[in-house]
Amino acid sequence: MTAIKELLLSHIRDVEDYPEQGVVFKDITPLLADPAAFTALTDALAEIAQRTDATRIVGLEARGFILGAPVAVRAGLGFVPVRKAGKLPGATLRQAYDLEYGSAEIEVHAEDLTADDRVLVVDDVLATGGTAEAALQLVRRAGARVAGVAVLMELGFLGGRARLAPALDGAPLEALLQI
Ligand code: AMP
Repeated sequence: MTAIKELLLSHIRDVEDYPEQGVVFKDITPLLADPAAFTALTDALAEIAQRTDATRIVGLEARGFILGAPVAVRAGLGFVPVRKAGKLPGATLRQAYDLEYGSAEIEVHAEDLTADDRVLVVDDVLATGGTAEAALQLVRRAGARVAGVAVLMELGFLGGRARLAPALDGAPLEALLQI
């Protein structure tokens, strides 16, 4: 494992049985509190943004905001928030997706993405891939192109990579850490 991956991994805290029994929650707050680790993470994700020729960073509420905003600044790109439904004041596109129990909806401001944009979706954890898949559907419905998805951590045993493949349509899924 590279020194950067070790630095990142050593600042992620496993919280067992949160938010429910049987789930190991990957808590990134120790990483955010450490300037060297947070800077290394921002630089690594910004490098992916530059390599994929992205023109916009889409961050997924809520931890995708914390990671995506400094990445956008570092890479010299605009930041676009994808929020849980009902939080954005302007005209939005809305996308529903299935959860383990029930469903959820996310939204983006329609005017924030155009046909000239190539979008890199940023989040902390890729689990089942449902959230990122819905975000990619929003990006395409807004008329923009998909540059890829970049996450700090992929929980491989949950199969998110396979679920995302059709929505990525050949664009890369980059995970700095594989669990
Ligand atoms: P999914 O849609 O299943 O890929 O879930 C991804 C979203 O849920 C991301 O926004 C993550 O922040 C969060 N998430 C899912 N599983 C975990 C986990 N084990 N630890 C931390 N966050 C998680």
